[in-house]
Amino acid sequence: MTTQPEVGVSDFVLLDNLTTDKFIENLQLRFQHNKIYTYIGEVLVSVNPYKTLDIYGQQHMAQYRGREMFEVPPHVYAVADACQRVLRQQGRDTCVLISGESGSGKTEASKFIMKYIAANTMQVHREYIDRVKNVLIQSNSILETFGNAKTNRNENSSRFGKYMDIHFDYKGDPAGGHISNYLLEKSRVVNLQPGERNFHAFYQLLSTNTTHAKKFALNSSSVYKILGNERATAQDSKLYNVTNSAFNALGFPPAVVDNIWSIVAGVILLGELSVGEDGAGRVSLGGPLRQCAGALGVAEPALTAALAGRILSAGGDLVSKEHSQSDADYTRLALAKAAYDRLFTWIVQQINKKIEAPENTYKSSLIGVLDIYGFEIFDTNSFEQFCINYCNEKLQQLFIELVLKQEQEEYAREGIQWTPVQYFNNRIICELVDAPHQGIIAIMDEACLNPTKISDAQLLEAMDKRLNGHKHYTSRQLCPTDKKLKHGVDFRITHYAGEVTYAVTGFMDKNKDSLWQDLKRLLHASRNAALRDMWPEGAARLQQTSKRPPSAASLFRSSMSALVAGLTSKEPFYVRCVKPNPVQSPNMWDEQLVRHQVAYLGLVENVRVRRAGFASRQRYDRFLQRYKMLSQYTWPNFRGSGDRDAVAVLLRDLQLADVQFGHTKLFIRSARTVHSLEAARAD
Ligand code: ATP
Ligand code: MG
Repeated sequence: MTTQPEVGVSDFVLLDNLTTDKFIENLQLRFQHNKIYTYIGEVLVSVNPYKTLDIYGQQHMAQYRGREMFEVPPHVYAVADACQRVLRQQGRDTCVLISGESGSGKTEASKFIMKYIAANTMQVHREYIDRVKNVLIQSNSILETFGNAKTNRNENSSRFGKYMDIHFDYKGDPAGGHISNYLLEKSRVVNLQPGERNFHAFYQLLSTNTTHAKKFALNSSSVYKILGNERATAQDSKLYNVTNSAFNALGFPPAVVDNIWSIVAGVILLGELSVGEDGAGRVSLGGPLRQCAGALGVAEPALTAALAGRILSAGGDLVSKEHSQSDADYTRLALAKAAYDRLFTWIVQQINKKIEAPENTYKSSLIGVLDIYGFEIFDTNSFEQFCINYCNEKLQQLFIELVLKQEQEEYAREGIQWTPVQYFNNRIICELVDAPHQGIIAIMDEACLNPTKISDAQLLEAMDKRLNGHKHYTSRQLCPTDKKLKHGVDFRITHYAGEVTYAVTGFMDKNKDSLWQDLKRLLHASRNAALRDMWPEGAARLQQTSKRPPSAASLFRSSMSALVAGLTSKEPFYVRCVKPNPVQSPNMWDEQLVRHQVAYLGLVENVRVRRAGFASRQRYDRFLQRYKMLSQYTWPNFRGSGDRDAVAVLLRDLQLADVQFGHTKLFIRSARTVHSLEAARAD
């Protein structure tokens, strides 16, 4: 390997004079020289280069294999390698938490990590492992087709959260995996911001008048309502083939793939239906009804009936109730969103069945990779942004707990001298959202359970009443002088990453997330086996009163707390992604934008804690056991008494001074010292 001159410092811990300005200067200098990776100890800071760099090939991977992080230039491969080493040497589960805002490079980083892990395997069972590696990587392209879309911030933005566990067998080779998906932004199916696209899957289907598209008389030259002004491109047609070969590689039978594309077509066609009124004030449906019913595998009259009205059970009798025109239209869009959302989750479940490791092949060691939506502040922020930003609060909380807090607590416990670092603990914001009874989610759920219909404005009133005085919550009602907040509509949360104004409009609906039973029955009765499988609750008899399903926000809250609990038990590695500019350019450095991200990711605080801290800590007895052979005073036995004294004598003999003696543990400041000890041991 050729050693290249260092640009700035490759670890922020080595900065002479730590200020935010110096931090940003170093980041910018390195970015301008294509050094997009820099460490803070073991935390990797990554800046999106917005261009292809020649640093990811086979020979680059080889550089990182089995090497300590500080031995080689910072790289996402070094993080992947460290993860794998912890797993192989200590048998511990690890995880990589990738955070940063939309377009900062999270998904790309997660793909490089997967690629590295997949390549770095032993040579035995080659064939089987190749299959596992292949399916893990192929599953990504399917997820991106159905869960990603072009937004104003990112051409390939993940519109769902993803956590993937990669399981390893006892030799440390990948044996399988499991994907958890979180909250797809399903409102995108029927509602696009100007300049944005719907999910890639829709355009791929239409791209080259594919067989699937032709079957339902869809074609690439027509304009379809839910696709906005955007058309399918040559790239979509290429990716359509990639998606289908990924389905094939994962072992999806062609009939199932047909079923999946039919549902995508059905959703496009639901968008084409028109809902009007006949002369007698009754709902009348128009547009490609027959085609739409065909794509969804249901009878046309059944589709019409389920959109135009519903059947109620009143004291055992069945009565039909017609929708108003606006209710029918609402129902149509709700059906399109729900069908696509279920399809996505169902695909993830099917992928899991294909990639799960057979029971007996792994001994439960695993590496988890979390690639989840970054903090979002849009012009209008709705329920989705509320959930996404809450998720980021939870992850920041985990970072604080694991990186900032525990480290400082341990120093205090061990009587280690150091200067405490101030940081903002965002627990108060997490609780504003998720506290039982008092949090925003609890208030929303209460409103949704109320037997009389509560409007969004009434929900806001209830929140104002209960959250009055909370430091991180306000609204126009509570702060009449704040002209930026719309009365009866807006509330503002001061998040750790900045202030976000949410419009409460649609919160009640999106939180209830209910779908008429008629629609579930309709889809469950489909000829399309995949649809039947996705809608099992459609099998319930009409008279059965079904329990109200949990609200969308409380489901999300539970999935977040399960996620955090899972992550807490693993050894974490962090990749903090930074976006250099808002226009996806390789040459532009937007200082304000970077400064904002550096601030809310807490990067400078992270350096302070790390600088005040220690690279390694070990109990005296363990340390002695491992290194006693390095000194004549401790080998074969120390002639004095006490492990701590023995360690002191050993270190004096080796002339190692960058350590502090805690009550029960030795704290070693730099990783280099640990490495030189290890090297001496190996000699
Ligand atoms: P979102 O939250 O919207 O999903 P993200 O953080 O996952 O955003 P990515 O999709 O990973 O962002 O990155 C956006 C784009 O930036 C990529 O499509 C790619 O063009 C470019 N990019 C990101 N990382 C790299 C990299 N390491 N090398 C080259 N290009 C990159
Ligand atoms: Mg992404």
